[in-house]
Amino acid sequence: MTHVEVAIVGAGFAGIGMAMSLQRAGIDDLVMLERAPSVGGTWRDNTYPGIACDVPSHLYGFAAHPNPSWSGTYARGDEIRSYLEDVVDAEGLRDRLRLGSAMRGARWDAAQEVWRLDTTSGPVTADALVLACGRLTEPAIPSLAGLETFTGPVFHSARWDHDAPLAGRRIGVVGTGASAIQIVPELARTAAHVTLFQRTPAWIVPRGGDVYSDADREDFAASPQALEALRADLYAEGEARFASRSGDSAAAAEAEAVARAHLASQVADPELRALLTPGYAFGCKRVLLSDEFYPAVASDAVTLVPSAVERIDGSTIVAADGSRHELDALVLATGFASTRQPYAELVVGEDAQTLAEHWSGGMTSFASTVVAGFPNLFVLNGPNASLGHSSSVLMIEEQAAYAARVLRRRSGGVLRVDPAAEQAYTDEIAQAAASTRWMTGGCRNWYVDERSGRLTLLWPGTVDAFRARLDRADGSEFLPEPALTPLVEGRTA
Ligand SMILES: Cc1cc2nc3c(=O)[nH]c(=O)nc-3n(C[C@H](O)[C@H](O)[C@H](O)COP(=O)(O)OP(=O)(O)OC[C@H]3O[C@@H](n4cnc5c(N)ncnc54)[C@H](O)[C@@H]3O)c2cc1C
Repeated sequence: MTHVEVAIVGAGFAGIGMAMSLQRAGIDDLVMLERAPSVGGTWRDNTYPGIACDVPSHLYGFAAHPNPSWSGTYARGDEIRSYLEDVVDAEGLRDRLRLGSAMRGARWDAAQEVWRLDTTSGPVTADALVLACGRLTEPAIPSLAGLETFTGPVFHSARWDHDAPLAGRRIGVVGTGASAIQIVPELARTAAHVTLFQRTPAWIVPRGGDVYSDADREDFAASPQALEALRADLYAEGEARFASRSGDSAAAAEAEAVARAHLASQVADPELRALLTPGYAFGCKRVLLSDEFYPAVASDAVTLVPSAVERIDGSTIVAADGSRHELDALVLATGFASTRQPYAELVVGEDAQTLAEHWSGGMTSFASTVVAGFPNLFVLNGPNASLGHSSSVLMIEEQAAYAARVLRRRSGGVLRVDPAAEQAYTDEIAQAAASTRWMTGGCRNWYVDERSGRLTLLWPGTVDAFRARLDRADGSEFLPEPALTPLVEGRTA
């Protein structure tokens, strides 16, 4: 039986960032459990053609690990994966990693005041448990009637089948979200034809960006100050983007005009343009970046079907608009289970309640990180910790710093979140979210929990505001430790 002070589940950006923060806080009795055979999370699992980050690389990394070697403004997925491997080595975390070890269950043992983990590599107990299991991690496979009858290869974008013969074939792509708009231009180059099934179009703005030369990389390596200044500029640009994404009318109108002009300049056919124009407010769904998607869709290589897939019959895909399409392969770019995380089913807190039960009306927390009824538990990149306007890593770093701070102050006690603090934080989020476009923009987005209609994925503010909110947490979010049992009336032992 292994006992550690802190068990971290997941070794993507969040798990690695948490381990770094703990080590810096002097807590190094820790284990990182990762079910896959390597680290990287998102960037290990998503290997589709064209994969790259859509936040500038110099902002999409840990502040403590600037990387002068990125190939360009938007790094490829394989570079980001290598970066995370390098960070693990640079931080000396390799021997804290237990790869191929899935957490199958975690239960709070109230008598021993430890978390008891059932893992595929044996039992583990831990004083504190960090869930860094991801947010866009579990593929959402749509229940398409007849999917099992499809005669060719069919796979999710996050489980790319690199053995499937796609060159020269007729390929269907289901979905027009962030993954699809990177995949379609790549497939269009080699496929016989691509048929794209679009339920709802996205707002798409120009991506731009540079390819860095060797000389650029040498300059970055030679001048850490320049890299730091670049990150600060990118951070400020990101923060400024919040206004247009959240609901400031003037900023959103300006950004929407940019998106409309982008569409108009890349798609000449007015009918196709109309099909690609969203009917909901700018910012309501994640705003996407691409210079290649519209030209690909406008080309002869791609047919846009403005309809969901209704059913599949052998090699025929029948769309909800009645159109029929003969295809050789099908890519499901259908996103991820985001509001209902499977890990929540595995974790049992006080009162024998699972985290999924606690979250039956959508995720709740204090500080987007700690949860009432789940002592000494931290959830990273879970409730209200995502951003629509900047880098996820910034939020992960703030959460990891908060968790390390309270764990260091814990001095052996048990951290139990005051339910009133969780409720107040939830109310705060609801109030801040109420007038945003995520709530009022007339779209269905994955930031809002369909059960309660609450914004449960996104933090409805800037990164600065998140940092300030976490800095204001002074420990009063936790219940006082139970008083000692009175032995004699008026006196305690
Ligand atoms: C295609 C794609 C592109 C993206 N691009 C961007 C971008 O450009 N900018 C941005 O800010 N964000 C982007 N994101 C969001 C991205 O998910 C986050 O930025 C970040 O990588 C999340 O890190 P994470 O560690 O929270 O989750 P993940 O990277 O998903 O890592 C979670 C890890 O937990 C492991 N795990 C889960 N359950 C268990 C278990 N029970 N036991 C053991 N291990 C477990 C998983 O195997 C995984 O390795 C993108 C997401 C996707 C899918």
